[in-house]
Amino acid sequence: MEGKPDDRELATWLAAQADTDAEQVAAELEAGERRRAFVIDELVDAGFIGDTLLDFAMRLTGVTQAKAQALIAARLKPDETGSSETVPKRDKLLAANEILFRRVNERLASMDRSGPDSHELELVCECSDRGCRNVLTIEAAEYEWLRQNPRRFAVLAGHEAPAVEDVVERHHRFVIVEKHAETHHQVEAADPRP
Ligand SMILES: [Zn+2]
Repeated sequence: MEGKPDDRELATWLAAQADTDAEQVAAELEAGERRRAFVIDELVDAGFIGDTLLDFAMRLTGVTQAKAQALIAARLKPDETGSSETVPKRDKLLAANEILFRRVNERLASMDRSGPDSHELELVCECSDRGCRNVLTIEAAEYEWLRQNPRRFAVLAGHEAPAVEDVVERHHRFVIVEKHAETHHQVEAADPRP
């Protein structure tokens, strides 16, 4: 594996998303030109569509919006355009969104882990809304506690989705939600700290 450190980190992250082997993913990343298409595929597999897919595609591949739109159009399958899903599939997609934001937060938190645990982290809202772009402020120690339970996510007040999760804790700047049983296997399988 001769990839740059950034690529290896991305490979590990994406491998966890896709539940595939990190070395295999790293090898794919090394293929250079295939990297962007690979990133798009992983995001699509994780359940992302629309503006959020475009936003992550641009951030993770570093291409312009027009280029990202072209890449997405080329990779997106006709049945993943997002308008006619069954209820269980919807539940899975909502959980997939929360799982991906949890991954993003794990990366943000790990980059910030140099200081003491008493400081605050600026993370992203882990709600099920693909279009949510809001920042969530949480004490590092609270965040560490949250991550001990893979069924729980931190979202802004009002961003909870009662059809698929229950509010289990209310803090003044965010609430903690716990997923309903239907998606326990899904969110536990994707636990970043198994
Ligand atoms: Zn949100």
